[in-house]
Parts: sequence; C-alpha cells; structure tokens
Amino acid sequence: MEPLELEIHKKYIERLNVSFQTTETKINTLEQLAFKYDLFFLDAFGTLYNQNHYVYPGALEMVRYLRQKGKTIRLLTNAASQPVVKLLKELWVMGFDFLHEEVVTSGDLLTLENQKQNIQEAFYLGRETGVAFLEAAGITFSENPKYPVVILSNVVREVELREKAIEILKRPNSKLIVLNPDPWAPSIDGSRKPVSGAFAYYLIQQTNAEVIYLGKPFTTIFSEALKKFPKSTKAIMIGDSLGTDVLGACAAGIDSALILGRNTPKESVAEDEVKLGIRPTYYLNI
Ligand SMILES: [Mg+2]
Repeated sequence: MEPLELEIHKKYIERLNVSFQTTETKINTLEQLAFKYDLFFLDAFGTLYNQNHYVYPGALEMVRYLRQKGKTIRLLTNAASQPVVKLLKELWVMGFDFLHEEVVTSGDLLTLENQKQNIQEAFYLGRETGVAFLEAAGITFSENPKYPVVILSNVVREVELREKAIEILKRPNSKLIVLNPDPWAPSIDGSRKPVSGAFAYYLIQQTNAEVIYLGKPFTTIFSEALKKFPKSTKAIMIGDSLGTDVLGACAAGIDSALILGRNTPKESVAEDEVKLGIRPTYYLNI
C-alpha cells in the first residue's frame, strides 16, 4: 500500500471510530462461505472486472455458483461516475447477469444524503455521466453555487476546475461530498494509481471544508443494503480491497472475505493489516 493511501485509510478508520477483531484469518473456499452465509455483498470494480477485463479468472464462476446455491447477491460499489444502467450493460457484456435492484452504488446514496442536506446547487468534479446522480438527488450543477458545496466523483485534471473547487471550498461553511472514497485503484495492467479519495484528500488539505463521504468503507452503503433483510440474515462482504471492502464490513459489523491475488498480493497483505490494524474474516482465492 502506498504511504499516502495508508494515511488516507487511517483517517477513514479515525472517522469510523471502530475497534477490530484480532482473530486469525483463515483461508476459506467459496463452497464453505456459501454453506455459512445467505447474503453476499460483492465489490464490483477490481473484484469482478477492470474496464472490460476480468481481474480474477474465477469471478464469473463465483457469481454463477452463488446463484446456483440460491444465495442473495448485492453489488456494493463506489462506482459513481456513470448511471447504474450503464454499469449493468458493461457487466452484462461480460456475462454478469445483475438486475438493477441488486446494485447499491455510492452515487445513489446522494439522494438519501440530500434529504438531510437539502442542497439545491453544487459545483461538480468528475465525469459528465456522473451528473445523473446529482440530477436524481435534485441538485443542479452550478459554476457558482449559492452555498459552497462541491460534489466529487473522480479525479479532474483541468487546472481551472481544480482552482474553482478550491476557491469554493475556502468559503465559510463549505462542504465537500465525496461519492467515491477509494484512494487508490488498480489499472488494467495491474499497476495502481491515485483516484477520487486521494483527490478529495488533496482538496481537503487546502481548505477547511466539512467532508461527507458516501460509499465504502463508510457504513451507509452497508446499512442501506442490509435494511431490506431480516436482522438474522448472515451477510458477508467479498472484495479485493482491505481499506474499503474489509474496513467497511468491519465497521458495519459483518464478516468479510478478502480476495488475494493481483490487487492485494498475499505477500504484502500481512504488513498492510498490521499498519491499519484490521483483518478480514477470511481470505479467498478465486
Ligand atoms: Mg474493488
């Protein structure tokens, strides 16, 4: 894990204010997990796909197996750069047969958050397709919002847009809403690069904005997904990231399985676990 990535995850842990299990993590098979759990929360990006590539050879088989066993599946994703219909189309092309109601995105949480915030206008940083989440929440894009609110879903390279956002966030009582807290993400070739969460951190350090994070590892995405099921439902989060999927599951009080391999190599995971003080319930190879 990169030093800055680690620093950001530590800040997330502080915000979440949780203590963690110290039991030893066991390697489990999907069959064992299917025996023990009813509800499977799956990470999307990095776990099932990376653009139009499979990251792990068994990703498709994993979903098919869980379906065959009659398990309930929900995709819990920090994808906030494009509407769910577009995400579903990309997944369908790759053979993942998810329905709209099986997807909970951090972008969709903006509608819920805005019932509390009542924001009408905001400056937006991210891909144009992500504006759909603002529209759904009743928020209009504005170059100069009446109240200083910036919503961020992705890294923006244009200097003018960055400067504009910083200028807005330096105003009194400003708010930065982060639709994707992931600080780092893998590229198709396996290299890793800073993304939305790292960009948000860069903006925060230059301003005094109040920050609102939506999506993993923060708990609303889990509570929203869990609220449709009885309390007795045995749920587990499966993902490729220690600092978002596993941390989020720990904070939400559910078990987790961390997929070992390209994105989280077996050789380095122990060191990251010690540095962050968190550990998944299981490791999984797919
Ligand atoms: Mg991931």
